[in-house]
Amino acid sequence: MPRKRPSFSRLERLDKKYIWHPFTQMLDWEKEPQLIIEKGTGSILTDIRGMDYIDGVSSLWVTVHGHRNKKINAAVSAQLRKIAHSTLLGLSNVPAVLLAERLVKIAPKGLSKVFYSDSGSTAVEIAIKIAFQYWQQKGKEYRSKTGFISLKEAYHGDTIGSVSVGGIDLFHSIYQPLLFHSWKIESPYCYRCTLGRTYPDCGIACAEQAEEVISSHRHETAALVIEPLVQGAAGMLMQPPGYLRKIRELCSKYNILMIADEVATGFGRTGTMFACSQERVLPDIMALAKGITGGFLPLAATLTTDEIYRGFLGEYRELRTFFHGHTYTGNPLACAAAIANIDLFKKGRTLRRLRPKIMLLEKELKRFAELEHVGDIRQKGFMVGIELVKHKETKGPYTLDEKIGIRVILEARKHGLIIRPLGSVIVLMPPLSITRSDMKRMLEIVYKAIKTVTTTA
Ligand code: PMP
Repeated sequence: MPRKRPSFSRLERLDKKYIWHPFTQMLDWEKEPQLIIEKGTGSILTDIRGMDYIDGVSSLWVTVHGHRNKKINAAVSAQLRKIAHSTLLGLSNVPAVLLAERLVKIAPKGLSKVFYSDSGSTAVEIAIKIAFQYWQQKGKEYRSKTGFISLKEAYHGDTIGSVSVGGIDLFHSIYQPLLFHSWKIESPYCYRCTLGRTYPDCGIACAEQAEEVISSHRHETAALVIEPLVQGAAGMLMQPPGYLRKIRELCSKYNILMIADEVATGFGRTGTMFACSQERVLPDIMALAKGITGGFLPLAATLTTDEIYRGFLGEYRELRTFFHGHTYTGNPLACAAAIANIDLFKKGRTLRRLRPKIMLLEKELKRFAELEHVGDIRQKGFMVGIELVKHKETKGPYTLDEKIGIRVILEARKHGLIIRPLGSVIVLMPPLSITRSDMKRMLEIVYKAIKTVTTTA
């Protein structure tokens, strides 16, 4: 007998009774009616009441080839008929091996070893620990290289290590006593340049400031961590051309490792498979998650060079082992989904088919500039941030109390679009597979929602 479908009101009641939602003020959540998603197809999410919504943030930046993509569904089902999980601690499994080969093939040159985990935060945490341990084991003269450099406004995850290299005060400042120190360099936020300069006349002056920090701390620094091209959670802050390349050069010049956190930018989001390749940058360590499985299952990978990997080899008693591993590391179901997702990039020519959609997005976004409270429109590939300001001339921001981003996304929701703001920045990050007509509809809804909310604000 099929079980009776639970009613919306029952699910909503149970949700409010039992679930503590992430990044959510639960006092507000408990008061408001909420959406409960039941299914999805392509770029559309359907809630328990049968209402359809465009998934304008790829279910938190993960969906690549659409919900319920047939090929990925089939790959997961086929793997289910073999085994759902076995461990990578002391054993291996078929999908984990085959995926590692594919990841190394598509990754920037030089990254040749894959360490699996299950979230973006763990991928970065692992990168940090590997960088730290690498220098400790390299020799006495490198033992002082224990610190990290990262960008202001950076977001690398929610675990204590990844928060330590983060820079979003709103999320991170309360944890200060728990964190290790990291030296911060200016975030290249051209719209509100802290150096008061304008691109391109500035000659990327923020990179000069970065050099000062890097050179003065080079002997105490293990690695610099950076989100390449786009600081996502900061509000889609786009780095000026040449910035990332310059950072790579500085890391090499001062002998510190470069960790590229491609958790958000990876798997086509910026228009290329990885953001680093747009500046021909080869990182020493790269963190991947989110889009790796196309948004099907939690999986992450930290890739390193052979040189770093070899620094961990030795007799067991030397204790050069990387003593780290999560229970679900290299989960076969997730790896099978990731293989199918990567194969689709090639077979479905995902990146080539994305190009005209990126251009369409760019064209359609232009008219948002005419809206009275749109201060800045930032786009890199399929990553978009629309910054709303109270006063366009002065760039004067909205206050937290005005909840402008939240109000815009709730207005958009009434018209069939799910998006999530970052403060006063409206984020758009649809699945790469979105149709042109859904994309146009998404933009139409966002335009109207911004107009409605900001004129009544
Ligand atoms: N790094 C970056 C650049 C991210 O955008 C995120 C998540 N938004 C993370 C790390 C953390 O990933 P997760 O939420 O899977 O832990």
